[in-house]
Amino acid sequence: MATSPSLKNSWLDEFPARIAELDRTHLRRRRRVVVPESGARLQIDGQSLLAFCSNDYLGLANHPALIEAACTGARRFGVGAAASPLVSGHSAANDALEHALAGFAGLPRALYFYAGYATNIGIIPALVGGGDAIFSDTLNHACLIDGARLSCAQIHRYAHADLEALDAALAQSRTPRKLVISDAVFSMDGDLADVPALLALCERHDALLLLDDAHGFGVLGPQGRGCLAHFGLNGAQASPRVLYMATLGKAAGVAGAFVAGSDAIMEWLLQKTRSYIFATAAPPLLASALRASLQLIEHDEWRREHLQHLIARLRQGLATGLRGSTWQLGESLTAIQPLLIGRNDEALAAMAGLRERGLWVPAIRPPTVPEGTARLRIALSAAHTEAHIDQLVQALSELSATCRPETAFG
Ligand SMILES: *Cc1c(COP(=O)(O)O)cnc(C)c1O
Repeated sequence: MATSPSLKNSWLDEFPARIAELDRTHLRRRRRVVVPESGARLQIDGQSLLAFCSNDYLGLANHPALIEAACTGARRFGVGAAASPLVSGHSAANDALEHALAGFAGLPRALYFYAGYATNIGIIPALVGGGDAIFSDTLNHACLIDGARLSCAQIHRYAHADLEALDAALAQSRTPRKLVISDAVFSMDGDLADVPALLALCERHDALLLLDDAHGFGVLGPQGRGCLAHFGLNGAQASPRVLYMATLGKAAGVAGAFVAGSDAIMEWLLQKTRSYIFATAAPPLLASALRASLQLIEHDEWRREHLQHLIARLRQGLATGLRGSTWQLGESLTAIQPLLIGRNDEALAAMAGLRERGLWVPAIRPPTVPEGTARLRIALSAAHTEAHIDQLVQALSELSATCRPETAFG
């Protein structure tokens, strides 16, 4: 006789209430169904909107050369890699991409991963463990934080960009193995880490520096070679103390990530990174698309010039448009332009007001950003036009005037 399955008095019964609690505290996140239209336009939940939310900073995600390369790669290598890299999944396409990435970044050797998140949660525990120490900027990306936790090393968090605090923490630490981890471009603020100063501290205290350049790769430095190139710290100037990590699903327009550095450290990571060893290799057709992307990143200087021009136009426009408003544009020279609003409800109202005007800019609230710093995260792309920027500036100027709190008048 079949008895119906029962969840009586089980913790599994608590999920509906736990979800309701997310609703009550405005922390429930919603996915929206997105279909790309032309340029920077997206169809979001059926509505056509001009989007300022994409990390496709160079406008390459829908480029015909990448689509063609992906199709050619699929015909030659198939769709799936079929095994982990150390078994039989290390396709000739992935191998060629690794050499191209190392050459592009100006570092001795690179390892190509299927995702940036998996890269950081895997390589940090491969580098340090119990008894070692990690030093982490408080605004670091979640995957650096999670990798640090997984490693079981002691974690010292220093206030955002406070290099004096980092220096003191490094000086106090008696552990022989020290790892400093930092976003190169901070993902919610768009500001750039002081890489030369971080490297100098690592040299002074015999530490290794892991930089996550998810938002700088393709955008910063000559030919878009990233944050190290921006500071002249790649090629002949590359330090064996730097591990450079970047993702390939943002400016590169595809998917995946890589880490690059000295031969010895890269060989160690190949031997010890569990998220690399125990996972199916990235589809080789993506490596084909990525090699086409690297060509465009390197040669289409106009994409970066256009992006820089749009960034300057937005900043100039808002300097005038937000005069007298409490809304403040963060100090950022990258494609990430945070407009700090403060209150969660005001940020959400601004986002809704923009949507009514056909514009899509995501409001970012705690816990993703610190309490009281809710913001609109404006992301610009080479796919935008001057007219798009002007439209956004106009809408934000109007909204900031109407959303202004009472106190500002009196
Ligand atoms: C997006 C992002 C990642 C994760 O990369 P995926 O390839 O999307 O997994 C890692 N670090 C930073 C700073 C990011 O912004």
